[in-house]
Amino acid sequence: MKQVFIKTYGCQMNERDTEALRALLKSRGYAINDDAHNADVILLNTCSIREQAETKAIGKLTSLLAQKKRHGTVLGILGCMAQRQGEKLQKRIPGIDFVIGTEKLHRVADYLDEHFTDVKAKPMSTIVDIASEKNSQNKISARDLRPHQVSTFVSIMQGCNMRCTYCIVPQTRGRERYRPMEDILEEIQQLSAHGIKEITLLGQIVNRYGQGEFPIIDKQSPFVQLLEKIQPLDGIERIRFMSPHPSGFGNDLIQCFGQLSKLCPHVHLPLQSASDRILRAMRRPYSRDQFRQIILRLREQIPDIALSTDIIVGFPSETEDDFNATLEFFEEISFDMAFIFQYSPRDGTPAALYEEQIPENTKAERQQKLLQLLEQHSHRHNQKLIGTTQSILVEGKARYGDTKFWGRNPGFHKIIFDGEEDLVGRFISVKIERASTTALLGKRIS
Ligand code: SF4
Repeated sequence: MKQVFIKTYGCQMNERDTEALRALLKSRGYAINDDAHNADVILLNTCSIREQAETKAIGKLTSLLAQKKRHGTVLGILGCMAQRQGEKLQKRIPGIDFVIGTEKLHRVADYLDEHFTDVKAKPMSTIVDIASEKNSQNKISARDLRPHQVSTFVSIMQGCNMRCTYCIVPQTRGRERYRPMEDILEEIQQLSAHGIKEITLLGQIVNRYGQGEFPIIDKQSPFVQLLEKIQPLDGIERIRFMSPHPSGFGNDLIQCFGQLSKLCPHVHLPLQSASDRILRAMRRPYSRDQFRQIILRLREQIPDIALSTDIIVGFPSETEDDFNATLEFFEEISFDMAFIFQYSPRDGTPAALYEEQIPENTKAERQQKLLQLLEQHSHRHNQKLIGTTQSILVEGKARYGDTKFWGRNPGFHKIIFDGEEDLVGRFISVKIERASTTALLGKRIS
């Protein structure tokens, strides 16, 4: 049986794609091997969002070429970087066997079958398949769940119709394509039958699900309709979603937080900048005040709702005033968590050509300032939970300590406690005793 090693870079969408690919390969008689040295096939499912992500994958690939020379290992590069660079990759790294784009992952097993059938008959030449494919969004539902897995991602759409000036995703993932609601619901029911209790709906802009294609019913967007249909499904206890966009975050969705008991009180809402001028330059179609209004209305529904965000510092032409607007707004909202990135120019995006690029040291200083503020806020939010009792879904063993296990509360806080293996997959109550910036420690009480 041929052994396949897959390394995944980047976001949850990629992780979910890799899971579907693993399942597909297993169903076609391949074995998944966690050790690249023992693999007949090495596949890298890549990310393009930042230059660094691509550099890492190229470095890995280059080092794997030696293994290929020694053992004839098959090397394939998949996903966003494959989509973006296509034949350029083949020229840049001669020796790779496959370059397979984001809409063609379901073809990987076919290509491997052909390769292993024909390899003796003719020398292998690189296969580059980055064409778009109608309905490729419906080919990502295969599952490869771990024993006792209780939480998983469900991709409900692919692609993005926005044109943020810094972002490569519309080029790597294509236009928005939505899965039929019935297919998604059926998949979730099957997941529930396998013991899954918590699902996270995934999409590049998850709240745009079905827009322009599925009807609005009783003033409710297709995404809200989907949430309402998941709510009564047996066995599913928690619903989350990643990542919404502020411009489609309407009242119908905000009200769900007060009405749907399974919808977890946590929203990850990318802000990127709180300078209206920079938001326009980024082509993000909302203002700081519109973002603020969403947060205020969410807090009306659930006063202590957990909030996280993404911020880009050092976008071209960002002045000290622009950055201070972000700093002040960050202080005002007080996020529980945030991913704070330095702007990284991506070839093929409009912002990469903007003249007023910001020096790297300025970007680093701005990032540090925000990170310091975030640390204070996260610490403060976590401290407030000391003494409270939290319901957590136990996910598994913690990295440190033989008796330590971890799970998350509805607000997505990570909580560590002393426990045993048979608690994995169960809801338990934990009293919080200590808090750091990144985790909470507690004692199981039931
Ligand atoms: S919304 Fe903007 S940042 Fe997000 S994936 Fe689409 S283009 Fe990229």
